[in-house]
Amino acid sequence: MTSARTNSSPGPLPGGGGAGALTAVRDAARVCRHVQMSLDQVRAMTKDDRSPVTIADYASQAVVARALAGDAATVGQVLVAEESAESLRAPEHATHLAATVAALRESGVWEDATPDDAIGAISAVGDPLAFDDDRPWWTFDPIDGTKGFLRGQQYAVALACIRRGRVVLGIMACPNLSIDHDASVEQADPRGTMYLGAEGEGVVEWVLGRPDGRRVRPRSSPREGAAVLAESVDSGHSDHSLSARIMSSAVGGEEGGGEHRVVRLDSQAKYAVVARGQADAYLRLPAKRGYVERIWDHAAGSIIAREAGCVVTDMHGRELDFGRGRGLEANAGVVVAPPGLHAKIIAAIGGMYAAGTP
Ligand code: AMP
Ligand code: MG
Repeated sequence: MTSARTNSSPGPLPGGGGAGALTAVRDAARVCRHVQMSLDQVRAMTKDDRSPVTIADYASQAVVARALAGDAATVGQVLVAEESAESLRAPEHATHLAATVAALRESGVWEDATPDDAIGAISAVGDPLAFDDDRPWWTFDPIDGTKGFLRGQQYAVALACIRRGRVVLGIMACPNLSIDHDASVEQADPRGTMYLGAEGEGVVEWVLGRPDGRRVRPRSSPREGAAVLAESVDSGHSDHSLSARIMSSAVGGEEGGGEHRVVRLDSQAKYAVVARGQADAYLRLPAKRGYVERIWDHAAGSIIAREAGCVVTDMHGRELDFGRGRGLEANAGVVVAPPGLHAKIIAAIGGMYAAGTP
């Protein structure tokens, strides 16, 4: 479809970060996959239905935090992530801690990890508002798309480097996404795909765990057939009926009624699916008034789409501002699409607002 094999390896990481960051995300994905393959065992051990997410979250964050702190290129750069170690330290969560350490060891990613190691690594998180403007810092989502993870469907492990409010590097593992752009995203792939996007350098994708990459070509012309909209599975995360109306107006012109298909998947894998041309647009429209998007849900994905030639803004056409703390405080929702369609979607939204509340 939109890519050609170049057999080039991802190479050094521009914009901050050594190859350690790449290995870290790959390893974090390995731990997540290990936990996903033993969902029932983990649940039985902790007597808690959501515990596989908790454990994989902690283990994934521990792996990446440890790697960034141990790499000469990134040591001292602050990590902003969702999990804190406080709850894992509490005596009532002893089984979660034991399962987290077991996942780190049994996956082979951190074979001599101890409970103190895991807690120590997870504790290393900072507050972006306290950072020096010029220093790059990192944001990480250890498991984005937790519901997809529990269903055995799409989820992502997403790390990004931010400088002066702008994402300069994104590394995203999608452990259940096929590298075959024609394969259904609803079907979990046993190999998975990994993405690296760096400012001004484009995007490379490769099979998770294999070093040979291929460049994702920027999208130029629209595909044939009905436009494809990618959106959240969870209608509490994005307003499905509003996105249908917006797409129909954007694709169909003034009379609306343009045809489109919808593909629903969890996590910021949606950005990759648009970047590689499998979908034409990703819309995320606030289902709850005033919801502020978290930076780690968008940082890595947004640069991957941007570097593949897509435009990434909020629903009012404003650039995403990653310099406001842990939330995208200056934005509302997200619109991702190649330039022509993006402009039509923003115009359709503007038209709806001009005519009253959409
Ligand atoms: P997705 O898989 O695209 O549906 O998004 C998953 C992400 O949605 C999670 O990582 C949450 O941080 C985020 N989230 C939680 N509540 C909301 C909400 N009300 N609106 C939008 N996103 C949300
Ligand atoms: Mg998330």
